[in-house]
Amino acid sequence: MKINMVDLNRQLEPIKEKVDAAIQGVLEASNFIQGEPVTEFEKNLAEWVGVMHVISCANGTDALQLAFMALGLKMGDEVIVPTFTYVATAEVIALLGLSPILVDVDSQTFNINIEAASNLITSRTKAIVPVHLYGQCANMEQIMKFAESHNLYVVEDTAQAIGAEVEFSDGSTRKAGTIGHIGTTSFFPSKNLGCFGDGGAIFTNDDNLAAELKMIANHGQRIKYYHDVVGVNSRLDTIQAAILDVKLKHLNFYCEARQKAAAYYDSALKSVEQITIPFRCSFSTHVFHQYTIKINEQYSRDELKIYLAEQGIPSMIYYPLPLHEQKAYLKFMREDMDYPISTSLCNSVLSLPMHTHLKIEEQDFIIQHIKSFFSK
Ligand SMILES: *Cc1c(COP(=O)(O)O)cnc(C)c1O
Repeated sequence: MKINMVDLNRQLEPIKEKVDAAIQGVLEASNFIQGEPVTEFEKNLAEWVGVMHVISCANGTDALQLAFMALGLKMGDEVIVPTFTYVATAEVIALLGLSPILVDVDSQTFNINIEAASNLITSRTKAIVPVHLYGQCANMEQIMKFAESHNLYVVEDTAQAIGAEVEFSDGSTRKAGTIGHIGTTSFFPSKNLGCFGDGGAIFTNDDNLAAELKMIANHGQRIKYYHDVVGVNSRLDTIQAAILDVKLKHLNFYCEARQKAAAYYDSALKSVEQITIPFRCSFSTHVFHQYTIKINEQYSRDELKIYLAEQGIPSMIYYPLPLHEQKAYLKFMREDMDYPISTSLCNSVLSLPMHTHLKIEEQDFIIQHIKSFFSK
C-alpha cells in the first residue's frame, strides 16, 4: 500500500478532462496574463466565500505582502503574529521594515492567544494577523473586539482554511478570510484549493482597499504606464485561474471529504490515551488542511514518526521550530516575550496523511499502526 500525505493525482483523475479543456482554452486564446479566466475565477470565488472583492496574485506570501502594503503601515510599525505558523506570515512583515511581534498560541486550538497578545501591545502596534492554522479559524469574534479596542487592522491568513466557517454569538456565520479588513489565501498545489503551480488571492469588503490592492499588485498603476505608488508584479497566471475555476466547483466536496476523513480518524484515535486528537472549537468549522495529533508528554513523537515511516506511512511536523527560535527572527525578540505552548507543540505535534481522496483501507492501516506503536 503506497500512502501519500497528499494525493494530487487521485484528486485530478475525475476532473482531468475539464482541466485539460480549461488549459487548452487558454493556449488557444493565448491570453496568458490577465486573461478573461482570471476575472471569471475572481468573481466566482468572491461569490463562493461571500466577499465583495477577490484580488488574485502570484502566491499566498505575496497576498500577505500586498495586504500590508495596502494598509499603508510605516517602517517600525508593529504587527502581532503567532510564533507557531509558517514563516511567510512574519517574513513579509520583516521584509517591509515592519516589526513582527511574535505571540504564543492557545494550547487547545493552536491559534493565536489574545490574552498573550494583549500583553505585547504598544503605541506602535498597528495590526494583528490571526492564522487559521490547520484549517480551523482563530476566535474571530474575540479578535475583532480586541482589534477595535486597540485600533488595529486585522489581516486573516487563510492559506490553510479556505471554506472554514466562523459562527458569531448572534448566530450569524462568515467564511474565513472575510471577517477582518483583509483576508489572504494561497493556491499552492497541496492547499485545500490548489492550482498547478503558485497562486494566491486577497479578500476584502472594502472598496478603497480593493482598488489599492489591485493597483499595488500591478506595478502601482491604475492606468497603464502611469505609476501612482511603488508597486510589485504579482499576478495569477491565466492558466492557473482557469484550472482553479474548474476545481472551485468541487471545493464543497473537497471540504466534506476532508471532514469525513477527519471524523474517521477521530473516532478511531480518541481512545488512544497517549495522544490528543484535534480540538474542535465551538466558534468555527474545521476544513482539515492538516489532521494534526499531539503526542502526550511522556511519549516520543519522533519515535512514532520513525515507526510509521518504517511501515510506509508518511507523516509531517508542522512546524519543527517556532518562529521565535528561528535565526532570522531572533532580533525581534523582547524581554517580555515567552512561548511555553508553541515551544512544546513543536516537540509534540504530528500531522497524518490527509487529503480529499484518502481511502478507508489506508486510514485503517495508519490507525492500526499508531495503535500498535503504543501497545509495544
Ligand atoms: C502556505 C502558507 C502561506 C504561503 O503561501 P504560498 O502560496 O506558499 O506563498 C502563508 N501562510 C500560511 C499559514 C501557509 O500555510
